[in-house]
Amino acid sequence: VIEIGTPERSVVTTCAYCGVGCQFKAEMRGDELVRMVPWKHGKANRGHSCVKGRFAWGYATHRDRILHPMIRERITDPWREVSWPEALTFAADRMRGIQARYGRQSVGVITSSRCTNEETYLVQKLARAVFLNNNTDTCARVCHSPTGYGLGQTYGTSAGTQDFDSVEQCDVALVIGANPHAGHPVFASRLKKRLRQGARLIVIDPRRTESVEGPHYKAAHHLALRPGTNVAVVSAMAHVIVTEGLVNEAFIRARCDWDEYQEYVEFIADPRHAPEAVEGVTGVAADQIRAAARLYATGGNAAIYYGLGVTEHSQGSTTVIAIANLAMLTGNIGRPGVGVNPLRGQNNVQGSCDMGSFPHELPGYRHVKNPEVRAIFEAAWGVPIDPEPGLRIPNMLDAAVEGTFRGLYCQGEDILQSDPDTKHVAAALAAMDCVIVHDLFLNETANYAHVFLPGSSFLEKDGTFTNAERRINRVRRVMAPKAGHADWEVTQMLANAMGAEWAYTHPSQIMAEIAATTPSFAGVTYDRLDQLGSIQWPCNDDAPEGTPLMHVEGFVRGRGRFIRTEYVATDERTGPRYPLLLTTGRILSQYNVGAQTRRTANVAWHAEDVLEIHPHDAETRGIRHGDWVRLASRSGETTLRADLTDRVAPGVVYTTFHHPETQANVITTDHSDWATNCPEYKVTAVQVSPSNGP
Ligand code: SF4
Repeated sequence: VIEIGTPERSVVTTCAYCGVGCQFKAEMRGDELVRMVPWKHGKANRGHSCVKGRFAWGYATHRDRILHPMIRERITDPWREVSWPEALTFAADRMRGIQARYGRQSVGVITSSRCTNEETYLVQKLARAVFLNNNTDTCARVCHSPTGYGLGQTYGTSAGTQDFDSVEQCDVALVIGANPHAGHPVFASRLKKRLRQGARLIVIDPRRTESVEGPHYKAAHHLALRPGTNVAVVSAMAHVIVTEGLVNEAFIRARCDWDEYQEYVEFIADPRHAPEAVEGVTGVAADQIRAAARLYATGGNAAIYYGLGVTEHSQGSTTVIAIANLAMLTGNIGRPGVGVNPLRGQNNVQGSCDMGSFPHELPGYRHVKNPEVRAIFEAAWGVPIDPEPGLRIPNMLDAAVEGTFRGLYCQGEDILQSDPDTKHVAAALAAMDCVIVHDLFLNETANYAHVFLPGSSFLEKDGTFTNAERRINRVRRVMAPKAGHADWEVTQMLANAMGAEWAYTHPSQIMAEIAATTPSFAGVTYDRLDQLGSIQWPCNDDAPEGTPLMHVEGFVRGRGRFIRTEYVATDERTGPRYPLLLTTGRILSQYNVGAQTRRTANVAWHAEDVLEIHPHDAETRGIRHGDWVRLASRSGETTLRADLTDRVAPGVVYTTFHHPETQANVITTDHSDWATNCPEYKVTAVQVSPSNGP
């Protein structure tokens, strides 16, 4: 029995875990948070929650929190606690010194999808208006950057097309490369309810996840493809739809570029895209692909939900385009119950992209090369904007190793643990003259930092998060910042230490600046958010209450574009030395690298990372259930315990990456998406062998 006492007050705020964006009442006694109660008026969750949002907030008050700024001359020196002014002056002097010696482009920032829109906006503004370059990138680089490219190219904007309510009107749900049960549990509940009511389910995933089958529902088709072959499978579905006459021609004539469509038909109808032709590559029986395609095209309202199993591939952007093509081919866009819906992993992936974190885009997905857009921000910020796109995270790291990129401000992101090819990330960080880590904890990246600025948890600040359905939710301060300042204040202090004269006194003023410069946010104010509860962008004169469904009358870009999707095999090949394919995912009770969930006082959150391996592959290697095994790739190796299961097919192994000891990213490669450099986390050729343990 947990004695929580009687709450004295409550504050409505938004969960800081996944992109569902559940809202909670934080119940307080004095300055102590005693309980998080799912808020029945939360439009994404309607009173529901999962274990993470409800119970895993103990990290916010964990003893590991660093509450004093710290600096050190060299990364081999011990940390020295200093005052905020001393830390900020030290950081500003170093960054200014680097730019004076190595040029304007020698420093940059990484924003976080964990932080609020307002904080993210300020960090990219720091790069553009203070560093005077576009060297800003976001941790969305390593998750949903292909969504930005793929949906931007085909539909004109990088966002899910539907609201979550829409799932209640779908007849067919096509889930690709996602396991909503573990990753987006509250959305999964709504999907499962619809499935229990009779909607049909198609899952495309190498692994038989919990989302494939559960109480009172079961996927009509589970296409257990070989990792890395999404494009071949989705294109084969399009081939079936086109060659069997299942296209919605009226929709295409009315809404899409007809000439491009005809070129696309010529391409996709080619026999090389037929399910029978790709069977050997994908490992999926042709009749399964044909049946799934027919169901998607003819089963009524068909909605696509996808996750990182789509994006984190060398053809991540191509798969997003292939998915967008499927929806246009069948007219499944622009009304309730249909659409293309990226399930965002972190609470503010959508927002961090919206806020101009990418090196080629200013807020609102407008290219830095566009002089009219630059003029808007030049007028607002009073500085010239660099017209050339800046460096992406992998480019920053490469440039650091080469010696031309020497200073980094990294807010709320542990790139050493999260990004692929750990050795390369470490070498890059070690080569820099100034690494500023702004975080709650001394994370792995901080081992290479010269300045540590204590961060604030979501309970300690005002702001907004934008969820996977473009819903802007308020984050409200529940308690005072433990280190004295909210994150947006720290960024402002750093900017001012470098000579800027920012004077925001509340995040609502930052949102006012966002609204004044970004048309899709023009109607967003904190007052309106308080009145309406939340707002889905675009929100402006055309849509004063926001926009639950996008592309209703026409696509944002005008006519929808069909783009060819040629399957190209990944460079990551299996062979005699590395004969198995590793893919990765997460479990319900853990979250990403576990920085928050591992700091929660409940044994349920401490399940170790294990390696799922098919019993046949285990037997041929002399491995029994629970044995220690060595997992080795061309990049590195680690040790973990074996879990023998037929959830994975022979030839495929699977693990999670919630614990730093597992070091899953020591294993992953430096292959990445051709368009966006999103790392290919989901396909690594590996060998598994018995081990005596770590
Ligand atoms: Fe938080 Fe996502 Fe769970 Fe909702 S589903 S409580 S947003 S982790």
